[in-house]
Amino acid sequence: PDRPVAQLPVLPADELDRVTREWNDTGRAYPEGASVPTLFAARVAADPDAPAVVDGARTLSYAQLDAAADRLAALLGRRGVGPGALVAVALDRSWQAVVTLLAVLRRRAAYLPVDPGHPPARRELVLADAAPALVVTPTATGLAWPTLALDGVDLLAGPAPTPTTPAAPPTADDLAYVLYTSGSTGRPKGVAVRHGALANLLLGVRDLLGSGPTHRWLHLTSLSFDISTVEVFLPLVTGGRVVVASTVGALDGAGVLRLVRAAGVTHVQATPSGWRVLLEAGLGTPAPDAAGLTPTPLVAVAGGEALPVALARDLRARTTRLINGYGPTEATVYATMADLPADPDEVTIGRPLPNVRAYVLDGSGRPTPIGVPGELHLAGAGLAAGYLGRDDRTAERFVPDPFGRPGERLYRTGDRGRFLPDGRLDFLGRTDDQVKIRGHRIELGELDARLLDHPAVAGAATVLRPDADGPRLVAYLVTRAGTAPEPADLRRHLATSLPQAVLPTDFVPLDRLPMSPNGKIDRAALAARDLAVD
Ligand code: ADP
Repeated sequence: PDRPVAQLPVLPADELDRVTREWNDTGRAYPEGASVPTLFAARVAADPDAPAVVDGARTLSYAQLDAAADRLAALLGRRGVGPGALVAVALDRSWQAVVTLLAVLRRRAAYLPVDPGHPPARRELVLADAAPALVVTPTATGLAWPTLALDGVDLLAGPAPTPTTPAAPPTADDLAYVLYTSGSTGRPKGVAVRHGALANLLLGVRDLLGSGPTHRWLHLTSLSFDISTVEVFLPLVTGGRVVVASTVGALDGAGVLRLVRAAGVTHVQATPSGWRVLLEAGLGTPAPDAAGLTPTPLVAVAGGEALPVALARDLRARTTRLINGYGPTEATVYATMADLPADPDEVTIGRPLPNVRAYVLDGSGRPTPIGVPGELHLAGAGLAAGYLGRDDRTAERFVPDPFGRPGERLYRTGDRGRFLPDGRLDFLGRTDDQVKIRGHRIELGELDARLLDHPAVAGAATVLRPDADGPRLVAYLVTRAGTAPEPADLRRHLATSLPQAVLPTDFVPLDRLPMSPNGKIDRAALAARDLAVD
């Protein structure tokens, strides 16, 4: 009787029960205190000689990987890295990077991936915001941070490490990693993820995929994307093998397929754009390649952006299994998954993973009827701790969970979705100005803010436009009187602080930016403009 009107349920009781409880009945008991270090240690003990990491001509067994991580953990300990510390890892994909992640976690510290491919200004911004205790780099650098350069460390044969490793494994609440993502006001924010959430994800995906020692995962994704945690840690906690794509990049389709064949890879994860590249390069073509190797049956995991039906059909026809994984970094990589049937005629994001719950809520926080769109909210074991050092932003997005136990939280994803009549979830786009381009998550507001830093720019609004070859970013600009900045100059300016993949391809000058009735820039009107006549 004393509840505010807005919280009164509008759904019939049985429907309300279905969408809040029955379809979220995902509880599964996983071993208490399970974490990457404890699960990995169990695999080392179970089969020390099994291959754990393959990188080119180098193969490390579980025992060798374990010893290498111990050596580096000892070194990290001598550099003052201990429980609760943050260690930046500025490394490309490599077996050394795998050793580094394990070593950091072994110190009960958390890792912070810093993409070596990002512009220096962005790396500096991330380092300044996160203030890590140490930065691990391939070689000595001019960084203004305490650095550990791996080229001076013998990971494979150094002196026996002194036992500085803390005896206690991480607790579920200890941070495992911090990952920076775009911020709408122009400032990237660090998502802090705990061991409990990471272990829950890995065990849930393990159960869905039946992960085990025969699985060989391609490690193709940069550590600065959270899906890399699945490629690296899932095999290592289930006795499988990590095949590091250190010399080929995701854009080199033929190179990736050669590696997949040569190393007998069984599992590959990529964004829909990444899968398109592999399909064009001949993924799953039955004929043997030049080296006489026939393709192995492949399990494909697609994630990071919406998977178009036509692409899903193509991909499913050339693989043995196709999983569509959905989730924001704030809910630890994947929150829901769909195992798509052969020749799918629709693509959904499936159902929540074990111990994860999903709700579709209207603007007043009430569950929408089945089939009716609302904002997707996530709850349960996968939620991140929040944004590093940003309690205000954390409180805005991680709100009290009215459907859970006291103290539980809901993450407001900003994604639109709906429940289908059988309880699967349908993804319907965004409720805000966050977009995905070539797998990169970017807030259009961050692009606008960086454009406005340019002395000649007085107004800016960037939009994502669909295009035959995939979406592209178009920046509309109002320039200061008497200036006419060249597109090349604007791109150079943006490239000092933003990754190459998110730079607009077109810059269109306008006399003024269109406004919507509420006084905001009308991006929809801009997106609807015909580029050809601009
Ligand atoms: P991830 O690296 O796991 O993709 P990000 O935090 O970079 O996580 O991006 C999360 C956003 O990407 C989601 O909120 C959603 O908008 C979009 N997204 C992720 N996976 C999917 C998917 N399978 N289908 C549709 N959109 C997706």
